[in-house]
Order: sequence, then structure tokens, then C-alpha cells
Amino acid sequence: MNKCKPMLEKVSADERMAHHPCYSEKAHHYFARIHLAVSPACNIQCNYCNRKYDCANESRPGVASELLKPEEALRKLCHVAGSVKELSVVGIAGPGDALANPRRTFKTLNLVRKKFPDLALCLSTNGLALPDYAGEITSAGVRHVTVTVNTFNPQTAAKIYKWITVDGKKRSGAKAMEYLLRRQQKGINMLCALGVLVKVNSLLIPGINDDELPVISKKLKLMGVFVHNIMPLISSKKHGTAFGLSGHPEPTGQELESIRERCGDMKQMAHCRQCRADAVGKLSDDRFAGFRKDSFNEILIPSGNGYENRKRWRSQVAEFLAKRGCEDVRSAEGEYLIAVCTKGMGIVNQHFGHAKEFLIYKIKSGGAKLINVRKVKKNFCEGPATCGDEGSELADILDTISDCNAVVCLKVGYGVHKLLEQNGIRPIVDLPYIPVEAAALLASARLSGRSAVPVSQKTFRKVGRVK
Ligand code: SF4
Ligand code: SF4
Repeated sequence: MNKCKPMLEKVSADERMAHHPCYSEKAHHYFARIHLAVSPACNIQCNYCNRKYDCANESRPGVASELLKPEEALRKLCHVAGSVKELSVVGIAGPGDALANPRRTFKTLNLVRKKFPDLALCLSTNGLALPDYAGEITSAGVRHVTVTVNTFNPQTAAKIYKWITVDGKKRSGAKAMEYLLRRQQKGINMLCALGVLVKVNSLLIPGINDDELPVISKKLKLMGVFVHNIMPLISSKKHGTAFGLSGHPEPTGQELESIRERCGDMKQMAHCRQCRADAVGKLSDDRFAGFRKDSFNEILIPSGNGYENRKRWRSQVAEFLAKRGCEDVRSAEGEYLIAVCTKGMGIVNQHFGHAKEFLIYKIKSGGAKLINVRKVKKNFCEGPATCGDEGSELADILDTISDCNAVVCLKVGYGVHKLLEQNGIRPIVDLPYIPVEAAALLASARLSGRSAVPVSQKTFRKVGRVK
């Protein structure tokens, strides 16, 4: 029930974002989150969700290998906190809806808050029950909430949701959808008024809501939403979702980027990895498989909480950022798409053959903007034993970055270097350990044939990994 509470104490949005890997693009290079899978049930049925299908190799919302009771969740968190010094956020993101399982959700949040007061609490919801719990959310110390809003139009919603639950009964059709949309908007308004940083996730569903998204984005901004995260529909047949089974197409990376650009008045999130409901670690490096129940079920709750390690890491990151030099690099005139390979720490530190994803920067008006993280099915090189067996993986990778003008990486083999050039993608391998954004800008300058790139420092300092 809604117990309306006073607004959260004044902590600036900047402070709240500084260590949150989803709310801050910069933070995602250094900080980690854990999703505690304590909420199995859901109060609606989206046509893009099937919680019964799980595959350990998948990163997809609504997927979790193991469900946890609140006490188990605390034990898991103690275990993870002992080995993931980058941890900064604890979220409840399913596998069902956090607010369709309120007792389990709030019990978990309260246990976590008591034991780990330095970790930010986060939850995500479809918004149906949000007006009932906005007050309790803030009382539990949650300052970041994600609400999924795919449309403001009941007719469109009827194509996206099979049913919703009202007073314990399943309802479908436009009238029921009108109710869902009203509840979502009411809940968001309440959270914004209470000082919660609200992020809205919207699925881009080709042919259903693509034309509505720019208007949705504008409206969200007016409502006080902090950031809009437009994510591509995942609709593989094997997942058994309604959209998957009906063969509904997924958007391409380029379609997603173009919609994000059309919604650009509102702050856009471009680094989302569409994580599992039991994700652990940095967004680009999910370590959930290493923290299954059998690894923590027997452990006793330790007296400490690992805070000293996290504190040390936070100050090391601050020092690292200060040391890594100035990012004030200007690119050449013109527009370019640059793919950058990184395995973390926000610097160019990955071989082309090891990359499972590429950060895509658009260079425009002298600046670099991250517009997407394009994943590939598989990296083509696992080390010397397989190097040279490129095959279909390489074709998929070339296809993924086919519209990019250059790719910046630590190294690339001679044969693949030539192949990239033949495909009109310039491989750039002499910007090692340069911050990713600056590397994209320097690459664009290189493409335009500009020899001297104005930088406010003569050289970038090469930076290694923080230990
Ligand atoms: Fe699945 Fe979330 Fe939709 Fe519920 S709200 S059906 S858990 S995607
Ligand atoms: Fe962050 Fe996106 Fe993962 Fe949610 S799904 S935790 S927003 S990266």
C-alpha cells in the first residue's frame, strides 16, 4: 500500500549517477551491478517475454537461472561483494516484476540496505502496481527506478501486451491497456515528485511502436524522467515468446540508432546490454555463471561487508580518471562512424579478434557520441590455437560494423587487417590505451587526412589497468 513519504534527502543527480553503471555511460566502464532474482511472478504478459526459457549463454531481461528467497539473496550478495570490488548497485529486475512480488522485493531491499548501506538500490517494474508502492520504494531507500513504457496509446498497447491483472483477474483489450498506461504515468509522476531518478525502458518493436517513440520520449522528458533507454526487441523463435513464434522482426542496429537520434531531445542511454535478471558484474562482462547457489548456499553471513575494498576501488578509479589525461580532442569536420574495441576501463585495450561487442561512436560537429553497443554472435579468435579459423564469425563481425568508417583496436592480424580495408573499414591500431571517446575522435581526424589534431595536452598518457 502506498504510504506517502517525504521526498528523498537532497543528493544531486550527478552524485547519484557517479557510480551507477546504467545511469552513467562513464560509470559503466568501472562499476558493477548485481540483480537479485527474488521476484518470480508477473502481473502482466508482454508478447516479448517468456520467463520459462533460460539459456546460460543468454543475456536477456526476464531470464534467470535460479530464483532466490530474500535470505538467499543476502547470502549471495555477501559472496559477490567479497570478490567484486567494482560493485556499486543492487537491483531487483525480475525475472518477473519487482512490484508483483512486493513482500519478497521489500524484504530483500531492507536486508540489503541494512548490511550494505553504501550500495545504491534499484528496481525495475512494468508500472502497473507502481502507484501503490511509490512511497514504500522511497522508504526502502531506492533512488533509481526503471519503468518500462512502450507506448502511450491503448490500441498499440493491445498489440504489445496479451493481458494485465486487475483485482486478481486477467484483462485484455484497449480498455485494460488504458488502465495500465494510466497507472504507469501516475507512478512515474509520483516517483519524480518524490525525488527518485526514473529511467524509462522502451522496446523498439518494428511496425508497432517505432513511429510513436519520438513523441513518447518528448513526453517523458516533460514528466521529469531522467533518461530514456530504447532497447531493440529480441524475438528469436527459440525463446518461445509470442513475437518470436509469430516471426516478428527484430530491429537492426542502424534502425535502433536512427530512432535514438530522432528521440535525441531527451537524454538517451546507448550502452544498455539487456541484462539477465540474475546478472552480476560490469555490464560488458556478466559473471552470473560464477555465482550459482552451490557457490554461496553454505556460507555464513560475514560480520563485515567488503566496504573497504569498494572504497579503495572508488578512489583508485577517481585517481585513474584524473591521470588518464585530457579528453578535449577535436575531430575533423564531417560525420563518421567509428567502432571501438575495449574490454573495460574505458580505454582501447582489446584485440579485434577478441571483441564480442563494439562501441559505436558517431562523430558529428567535432564531438563523439556513443550511439550503440553492437554485439556479435561470437568473437572469432580465442587465442593462438584458433586464430586463423575465422569462418562465419568473421563474416558476422564484418556485417555488424559494415557501415563504420574505422575500427580502433589494440591489434589485428595481417589477413583480417586487409579484409577490413577491402570492406572500406580502416583498422587503426596505434591508439593503444587511449580513452575510447578520444580514440574515436582521433580516428576520425585520421580519416579526414588531418595530420595535427588539436589537443589541450601534447600527448595522452598511456594508462594501464587499475589493480
Ligand atoms: Fe516479462 Fe517483465 Fe513483461 Fe512481466 S513485465 S511479462 S516479467 S517483460
Ligand atoms: Fe542496465 Fe540495461 Fe542491464 Fe538494465 S538491462 S541493468 S539498464 S544495462
